[in-house]
Order: sequence, then structure tokens, then C-alpha cells
Amino acid sequence: MIDNDRLSQEFLRLAHIESPSKHEGKLAQYLEGTFKNLGARCLFDNSAPKTGSEVGNLIVKLSGNASGRKIFLAAHMDTVEPCRNPKIFLENGIFRSDGRTICGADDKSAIAVMIEVARVLQERRLPHPPVEFIFTTCEEIGLLGAKNLDYTLIEAEFGYALDSEDPDQLINRAPEAIRFSLQVLGRAAHAGLCPEKGINAIKIAAQALVKTPVGRLDKETTANIGIIRGGNATNIVPEEVEILGEVRSHRHEKLESVWEGILQAFEEAVAEHHQEGPRPALNYEKIQDYPLMYVPEGHQVINLAQRAASKLGRTLQITLTGGGSDANIFNGQGLPCVILGTGMQQVHSTAEYLRQEDLVQTAALVLQIILEAAAT
Ligand SMILES: [Zn+2]
Repeated sequence: MIDNDRLSQEFLRLAHIESPSKHEGKLAQYLEGTFKNLGARCLFDNSAPKTGSEVGNLIVKLSGNASGRKIFLAAHMDTVEPCRNPKIFLENGIFRSDGRTICGADDKSAIAVMIEVARVLQERRLPHPPVEFIFTTCEEIGLLGAKNLDYTLIEAEFGYALDSEDPDQLINRAPEAIRFSLQVLGRAAHAGLCPEKGINAIKIAAQALVKTPVGRLDKETTANIGIIRGGNATNIVPEEVEILGEVRSHRHEKLESVWEGILQAFEEAVAEHHQEGPRPALNYEKIQDYPLMYVPEGHQVINLAQRAASKLGRTLQITLTGGGSDANIFNGQGLPCVILGTGMQQVHSTAEYLRQEDLVQTAALVLQIILEAAAT
């Protein structure tokens, strides 16, 4: 039922509309026009001032002609750079850029699929329950659209974020993540004339860092120290050093315990160098980046997708990811959501590509999911 040619043309059209984070306006307008032509209702939420984008998140409501489970499909409108003046080609069944920019399959492959599926539903008058399409802004710069989405506009019970690689995989788990900053404060002094008057903040931080675990800590937990900033000159005992890092885990307790271990290492190092007065001292900030995503097997959002896949003679492999996405935020808001692949490959690079065959397969699965939703 999927029109391969129309789907491919749509992807190419979308890929040529520039939409770096915060500049999703042109694409949002195009989508609004396209879905209005299909008879759908289009709403923008009021997230723009909070995300800094030109537009709010776009929520498209396609009314149903049958009863069934109300589901949503989600994609993000923004892309990473480089994405200016893109030239995207379809050659030998593969979409790619001319090498200067990304191809935009992340996440325009998903958007193309959603448009094609809506077209097929309308033109064939296939029985389907109401479907909501969620198009977020600023996913690539911290899931800002999803974090500021007006969830009162969403009526669907559960849904699918189309934002991963392998079209035969369904992702039901993604880690929780925090970011942190640790600031060690020592005391400045001339390094040659009176070093005894100083407290070396870098040295204290180094002592703590030796005890800080980084890398893959176990199967479901990772930690990283990504940035160190400190010191002013080689002849000054450094007064201040700032350390920035992150922890991710598929288990909340593990994440907390790794973070507490890091904090303890710094507290101990500072305490060990304690002298009279307020220095050395430690300041820290822990920021919740995104919450855990976990949808248990057996949940209807997974069952429905598996049933749809098996109708098409396919099987979906259920798997996990190490990265966060809008789906983490949806789940955190109480909207069960799993992630489906669209065929996008080598994303966030100018080598990004998309197989036409994978795009078609994704559209067929998503259409079937909606048809199955009508049957339940
Ligand atoms: Zn993406």
C-alpha cells in the first residue's frame, strides 16, 4: 500500500528544507500545510519561548473512522549541523548528501514515513482510530522541545518515536542521565614567592579524580569526565578548578550510587587538605538530564508493534540503547513510548545515509501498527 516513489520524493523534499535546532519554522510550516491538506488538525504548543525555537512543537491530530487504541507517532524536526544548503541524492537505492552536509535521515526519514502513512490512510479510507503525530523542536540540543511540550494536548495512550537506525529493532530501554559540575576552590598565591600561602585546587581535584570511576562501569552504567577548566598562570597556585561530567545508567539506584561515590571522592580530597579558614571548599551542581526509559516486555505498545510486524512476516528484535531521546521524556511524563528504527545510518556525520528499502519497510510497519490498533 505504501507508494515507494511518493515516499522517496517526500523524503527528498524534507531533506532539502533546512531545520537546524531552533530554526524549525520553515519545516513546521511545510508540515502544517501538508497535514491540513490531508484534513488533519494542526496545533502548535507554547514551548517556543522556553526552547528558543522559532516555533512550538507541532501536534497533528488525524481523526479516526474506527474505534481502537489511540496511539501517537513522534519525530523531531531539528537536525544537527552541518546542514546548510543541502544537496541530497537518491542513487542506487541509497539517499546521501554530496558530502558537505548531513543527509537529514535523522529524523526526516521518520517525518517522511508519517506523511506517507497519513496519505495512505486517507486515500484508501482504511479503518483506523484517531492518530496523533508529535513533531518536536530542539531534540538535538537537549530534548528541549519534548521537555517543554504541552502534554495536555496529547490524548493518545501510548506511542512510537521513530528515531533510531535498524528498522527491525524496537528499543524499550534507555538510560537515565545526569550531568554534574564540581568546583574545587583553593587559594591563590605566587608560586615562586610564597607557595605555602596557596592551596592548589588542581592538585586536590586530581587526587579526587584518581578515585573517580569513568568509562563503562558495568553492563548498564557509564560515567565520564568530559571537561576540566582551571588555573590562570604557571606562576600562580591555582585557586579554582571546575570539572564537568555525566553518569548514565539503566538503573536509578546505580546512577545515584556512582554519583555519590564521585561526590565523596571530592569531599574527602577537600577534607584532607583542610586548613584554618574556609578553603579549600567544594561546590557542586547535579542536573537531571533525562529520566529513565523502560517499557516492560508484554506492554501493549510492544505487543501491538510485534503483532504488526508478524502480519508482515517480520520480527522485531527488542533491544536497548545507551543514548537518551525524546522517548525518555515522553515516558517520564507517563506516556509509554518505544523507539523504532527508520534505516538512518551514520547519523550526525556527513557520511549519513538511508537505504530506500529500509524507509519503505518502516512505513509499511508503521501503517500496519495503526491498522492493528483499530483491531484492538
Ligand atoms: Zn534523532
